[in-house]
Amino acid sequence: MINSRKLEDLHPVVERMCREFIAECRKQDIDILITSTYRDNESQNAIYAQGRTKAGPRVTNAKGGQSFHNYRCAFDFVPIVNGKADWTNTMTFRKCGDIAKQLGLEWAGDWVHFKELAHCQYTGGLKLADLQSGKQIA
Ligand SMILES: [Zn+2]
Repeated sequence: MINSRKLEDLHPVVERMCREFIAECRKQDIDILITSTYRDNESQNAIYAQGRTKAGPRVTNAKGGQSFHNYRCAFDFVPIVNGKADWTNTMTFRKCGDIAKQLGLEWAGDWVHFKELAHCQYTGGLKLADLQSGKQIA
């Protein structure tokens, strides 16, 4: 079961954008931690089970093969405030979201369905079905 937080496990294009994102946040005095990059399907299914067949809050609507993390196109982050991960700081998340968008990433804080302040992705215009059928970011 793989649930990686290594930048090298992202698609090279997304890895580069993620590094730019971290650097740009730092320039604006925001330290962030990358909490998840690539997940295999087994790991995704385990997360999907949370809040359904396992205890805990629901954190995803995606089963294995349905998350952009499964295709190395997505990463999750959290701002570090006073040395601690701060999951509740909506304002800082928004600032990071703006930075992500300026770099060409999609930020899930803008999503209407299953809004996720911590999630960024880049697919080069590919849809989930494209990735599922084996297409790759150019
Ligand atoms: Zn995510």
